[in-house]
Amino acid sequence: MASVQIRDVQKYFGGTQVIRGVNIDIKDGEFAVLVGPSGCGKSTLLRMLAGLEEITHGDILIGDKVVNNVQPKERDIAMVFQNYALYPHMTVYDNMAFSLILARSDKAVIKQRVDKASEVLGLGSLLQRYPRQLSGGQRQRVAMGRAIVRDPQVFLFDEPLSNLDAKLRVQMRAEIKALHQRLRTTSVYVTHDQIEAMTMADQIVVMHDGIVEQHGKPLHIYDH
Ligand code: ADP
Ligand code: ADP
Repeated sequence: MASVQIRDVQKYFGGTQVIRGVNIDIKDGEFAVLVGPSGCGKSTLLRMLAGLEEITHGDILIGDKVVNNVQPKERDIAMVFQNYALYPHMTVYDNMAFSLILARSDKAVIKQRVDKASEVLGLGSLLQRYPRQLSGGQRQRVAMGRAIVRDPQVFLFDEPLSNLDAKLRVQMRAEIKALHQRLRTTSVYVTHDQIEAMTMADQIVVMHDGIVEQHGKPLHIYDH
């Protein structure tokens, strides 16, 4: 676990400024939700946290370390995307193990991490299936499993539920929350859905047009 600090971060694409001086403090173990309308800069901010997008100005700290120039792979983070990005020709087990295999982790460590993640996510009976043999919710769980096995300091979620139907979205919201309560990994979760933000966040950050409009505990944000 680690805190995440975003300090006066700005981003230009060409001559257009899309992030206009954002400051956000996320505490160790906190579940922060970035919410706001399409185009307000949520994904860009998340991608800068992941190191997938350069910062034009400002600093991002993970723990007490400035990571502006740290490559994505060297940042101790794991990202969960909305399109599950599972490998279709690999089993559930291998999908979860793959990044650890690439990182040349010890085989016993890989097995232990995958077994723990599948237990946490209730995937134990599905390990030998292929992605096409899974439901949408199960696929989303495998995508989360792939993040969990890396045991990162920070989880980044990019609208992970937006491809699911309404009923499953509600269920997965609760599952992700329960998962966070168990693992307590510092999390940054992006959504355009205010209800999702309200029900999941320890801290909500409301963005509008490249700035932070409001931030605080969910009740303090929408309760007036
Ligand atoms: P959100 O995630 O809140 O929908 P984004 O971060 O995707 O918003 O986009 C913020 C703004 O930056 C939008 O105006 C978008 O068009 C622009 N933008 C995003 N990525 C690029 C890019 N690679 N090149 C130019 N403009 C971009
Ligand atoms: P080998 O040592 O023969 O290469 P692996 O450990 O790579 O064996 O596993 C072979 C296959 O068994 C993998 O493709 C994976 O799908 C499956 N497997 C390995 N460990 C587990 C496990 N704990 N639970 C379920 N399936 C597993």
